[in-house]
Amino acid sequence: MTSKEREQSKRRSLQRLKPEGSKPDAATSNKGCAATTRALTLKEYAALVKRKKCRWCKRRLSSRVEHYDHAGGWEVHEYPQKQWLYVVCTGCGYQWNLSKLGIPRQAPQ
Ligand SMILES: [Zn+2]
Repeated sequence: MTSKEREQSKRRSLQRLKPEGSKPDAATSNKGCAATTRALTLKEYAALVKRKKCRWCKRRLSSRVEHYDHAGGWEVHEYPQKQWLYVVCTGCGYQWNLSKLGIPRQAPQ
């Protein structure tokens, strides 16, 4: 058995575990890629913020993402309107919106 054959049989068994109606594409692509095909959830945005530090006071930012309806904001999974997303630094009180933290509003096409 070649490694390619092994991978294919692994892939087939993965698909069997999936409930009917789910896309097989999502099962075979890695998780990082799958995340770019739909809007992120607030939790996923929070996970992106978690690794960031405040540029002013160097404190690690809270992962509590604040949000409100804003047409110029980010698409958030399960929100009908775009949301303006920001975190408040617990050190200096600066409001870091996610674009200042380098988190793009749209998934790369
Ligand atoms: Zn700060």
